[in-house]
Amino acid sequence: MDVRSTSTASPPGTTGYPTRPPLRRFLSDCYEQFRSDNSGAVADYIPELKRADPAHFGISLVTIDGHIYEVGDSAVPFTIQSVSKAFVFALALEMVGEARVSATIGVEPSGEAFNSIRLTNDNRPFNPMVNAGAIACSGLIYEVEGKGAFERIRAKLSQFAGRELGVDDAVHASETATGNRNRAIAWLLRNYAVLPDDVDAVLDVYFRQCAILVTARDLAVMAATLANRGINPVTGVQVITPHIVARTLSVMTSSGMYDYAGEWTYRVGIPAKSGVGGGIVAALPSQMGLGTFSPLLDDHFNSVRGLKVCEALSARFDLHMLNRNADVRTSIMADYDIYGISSRRSRQPHEQQILDERHSDIRVLELVGAMNFGTIDYVTRKLTGEPPNAPLLIIDFRRVPDITAAGAELFGETLTALGDGGVTTIVSGVERSSTLWQAISERTADARRLRCFTLLDDAIEWAEDQVIYRHGGFTDVKESSHLHEQALLAELGEDEIAAIVKLSTTRRYEPGQRIIGAGEPASSLFFLQSGMVSVKLPSGVRLASLGPGMEFGEMAILEQSRSADVFADTPVTCLELPLDSFADYRRLHPETSLKIMRNLAAILARRLVAANAKVDLLSAY
Ligand code: GLN
Repeated sequence: MDVRSTSTASPPGTTGYPTRPPLRRFLSDCYEQFRSDNSGAVADYIPELKRADPAHFGISLVTIDGHIYEVGDSAVPFTIQSVSKAFVFALALEMVGEARVSATIGVEPSGEAFNSIRLTNDNRPFNPMVNAGAIACSGLIYEVEGKGAFERIRAKLSQFAGRELGVDDAVHASETATGNRNRAIAWLLRNYAVLPDDVDAVLDVYFRQCAILVTARDLAVMAATLANRGINPVTGVQVITPHIVARTLSVMTSSGMYDYAGEWTYRVGIPAKSGVGGGIVAALPSQMGLGTFSPLLDDHFNSVRGLKVCEALSARFDLHMLNRNADVRTSIMADYDIYGISSRRSRQPHEQQILDERHSDIRVLELVGAMNFGTIDYVTRKLTGEPPNAPLLIIDFRRVPDITAAGAELFGETLTALGDGGVTTIVSGVERSSTLWQAISERTADARRLRCFTLLDDAIEWAEDQVIYRHGGFTDVKESSHLHEQALLAELGEDEIAAIVKLSTTRRYEPGQRIIGAGEPASSLFFLQSGMVSVKLPSGVRLASLGPGMEFGEMAILEQSRSADVFADTPVTCLELPLDSFADYRRLHPETSLKIMRNLAAILARRLVAANAKVDLLSAY
């Protein structure tokens, strides 16, 4: 047996992690289990199809992120036959529009075999998945493209498959020579003006599209494109609109498996389409596309082994499309005010006091997962109910990959209402250039009132500033601070401070200038006297913003090299104290040294308490 997967295989002999994803093993098991089933027969009404090898059996599954699983004869080409109908229907919708298509072809299951000649009471084909409807689809495309119709179809199916597809001329010739039943259907359609005059030309388009060569892998990619709202997950190309995808999957659900469709949807519950060449496509929206190939067909002309694979997959993993479970309540990961939590910007004591008193003025809601109709409705109920919202509302989207149009609609309306009610909303965790931000801001009446921050921490800092400002405590950048106010030098006497100043050098920096670089030797510590600095990890994550009266680089007392960068945010003045001269000083003045070390311990302990509060709060969710 041939088992492939395009994932990078584990190095041979590596122990400790699985060498095959369980889904691949499942597909291999299906292959092993069903290959011995030789029931059914190859199609023979098209003479050339009799040449199919009944032993052939291929399975391929393509995920929404474009991973391809392949088992067995997944690379063996065969003719697509009726599987083409689903994709040609999508193309017809794209080319002539929904109104024209529904005026020509119905969408009701016929309950009859694929080649039934019966039409609806108003003389239209029942649906595009039976021959009559498919020939009518080819007719619609022929009316627009004329001689170019087949090439247009081939090119579209190639986009679905992500590679250029060819045609089996022998099968095409064979069906042309024997396809009198389809010819009869076509002329009947001509009689009711469903087809134009060139009936033979339309039939040739249809016969040729049925003779397009595909592999199980191609079918899986095509199905995955349908499952992925029309974007081919392997090539990334948007092949068809999501709207048309939904229409196509609908008729596949109701009629894709001919007169077995009802049973199929009931048992398997995955939109699918089969063909007499032995192929089946099955597309489970937002999950995966499956393609199978085995030419032995049952009485309904569906591939016996293909059907079994679909049934087994659906049963084993509970994939019925109507069996969905999602709890909207998991969409809010955390909902808190800033009590005990603050941005990484260190505040002056009187500013901190305002924040401590007004902590409930800032509400933070951290969302998680894809936001859709249901989850956003839940979120909006949390935002609009009693008690009224805090005046500053931060909604964090950093764990939200996507929002649907319905979700954005409900969300935008809520933000508009909150804004009218005087709530300032801050959206964090999104880039201004993202489609997520676009979707939200587009649907909010006065989007200019919305704030947007990439980082939650920046959003909290901005909201804190608002609270401090609104309560009269805004001191902005303090001019300068005396060394007495340095936490690290608390309790030191005049003489002791004077001695420290003597050992130090005054330094000035421009905004944006780097004062300390991560990885550099840690040979001094700094007392910030005026201006603001930010301590950042090399990744850009901010650890703290500091103002006058605060020290930085103090970890040098404990560590050999700098663990973070420090940048000047404003013009900065500080005193730099070299550690070697300080070491001499410490030897001479052990008491002062002890005070400084005690202060350092207190500073570190406060930081630990703050970090613990954050861990505690987040672990409550
Ligand atoms: N070309 C075939 C036909 O029209 C396609 C039928 C099918 O795959 N069910 O008979």
